[in-house]
Amino acid sequence: MSSQATDLNAMPAPDLVSELTPDVADAAVGSGDQAVIERAASWARDYVAPRAESWERDRRFATEAFASAAGEDLCGLLVPVADSGSGMSQIGLARVLEEIAAADFAIAFSLVCHNNLAGAVSRRAPAELRARALPPLVSGERLGAFLLTEPGVGSDAAKITTSARRDGDEWVLDGEKAWVSNGTSAELLSVYAQTDPAAGHRGIVTFLIDGSTDGVERSEGYELSGAHGLGTNGISFENCRVSDGDVMVPVGEGFVAAMEGIDIARVLVAAMCCGMMRTGLATAIEYVRQRQAFGGRIADLQGVRFRLADVATDLEASRLLAYRAALAVAEGRPAAVMAAHAKKFATRAAERRLADCMQVMGAVGARRDHPLPRHLAASRLTHYVDGATEIQDVVISRTLLD
Ligand SMILES: Cc1cc2nc3c(=O)[nH]c(=O)nc-3n(C[C@H](O)[C@H](O)[C@H](O)COP(=O)(O)OP(=O)(O)OC[C@H]3O[C@@H](n4cnc5c(N)ncnc54)[C@H](O)[C@@H]3O)c2cc1C
Repeated sequence: MSSQATDLNAMPAPDLVSELTPDVADAAVGSGDQAVIERAASWARDYVAPRAESWERDRRFATEAFASAAGEDLCGLLVPVADSGSGMSQIGLARVLEEIAAADFAIAFSLVCHNNLAGAVSRRAPAELRARALPPLVSGERLGAFLLTEPGVGSDAAKITTSARRDGDEWVLDGEKAWVSNGTSAELLSVYAQTDPAAGHRGIVTFLIDGSTDGVERSEGYELSGAHGLGTNGISFENCRVSDGDVMVPVGEGFVAAMEGIDIARVLVAAMCCGMMRTGLATAIEYVRQRQAFGGRIADLQGVRFRLADVATDLEASRLLAYRAALAVAEGRPAAVMAAHAKKFATRAAERRLADCMQVMGAVGARRDHPLPRHLAASRLTHYVDGATEIQDVVISRTLLD
């Protein structure tokens, strides 16, 4: 099996998009977006897929993957063309991330965090900071990270305790951030801090600071169930002095700014789950078509066929929910509930259906010489990022009951 299994691991990202729901996403994507999607898909297939398992085995942020993504112009997807970005639509971005996650979730999510930051800098940063920070983010010369969560504060993000106090004409940051994707390697940190605990979320300010500033301390990357390519860690601030020029979003607007992209962020997680499920389905199909038992192909056993039919149904449903929500975001319609449905459904579907794909492959399903164990481990983490599953239920049930 091993030579064949290695082939499966390096297998091109499966072309199930054209067979499943071709109209949902692609119809709404413009020709400019289409070129980026195709570039991202071939990069994911040819560069990421063959290397992702070894990055995971090394348990490190894949610096070379980010450099390679930069070479493919994948670092300024949400930045206007006038600023050398790709100026993509939200639907186009979801398609790009579906393609990359079909090869590896960690690389896809790392790029989301970076691209979201670059997009926020282009929309929100004052002119001088924008001029200084945006070009290296778009070119991929500098990697970005988003620091909201703290060891004691997750879902209830308005309660962050990292403090920002004035001292002369400087700001002094003290506190600890947790779960920073890209954190082990990021050079630009967007840090959410509280200026006045009594003001609640209205006291929150956002800084964009250099990761090498005095007083910034990083932990090693966390040991997780999977997705180590994200370089997720903790970052603390002790008497860290920054200037007014490092304020990206002023006091009072920081929390709103953190939440303004939350709907599309949830849609993107759903799209990434679709990518992982596609790979699961294609890998399982490839295997059961050639595996023999009891005088015939495993693929001809009804139990196997129906299980894979269930995977395909959940993949279709996930894509429909994800791209319906993406379209609502792109058209400026209320999308919070659609995004919550999409994220909740697709994350659950990915975990359950990747396990189904591994099951029809027998014990070979559990081997790490094909991508499914890596995707299954990553699918567990999708339940927490950008609002845990229960927070999606809070959003959905509020509209039903309040
Ligand atoms: C791989 C990974 C990468 C991440 N990257 C980043 C990043 O780059 N930047 C960043 O700032 N954060 C990041 N996070 C953190 C993520 O945003 C938090 O994990 C998430 O907000 C949930 O917070 P928590 O884990 O502290 O859970 P808690 O808030 O402690 O919740 C614990 C449990 O209680 C449930 N719960 C909480 N409130 C309610 C409620 N009102 N009703 C019902 N149930 C509730 C939760 O759903 C959960 O099941 C990342 C997390 C992971 C796993």
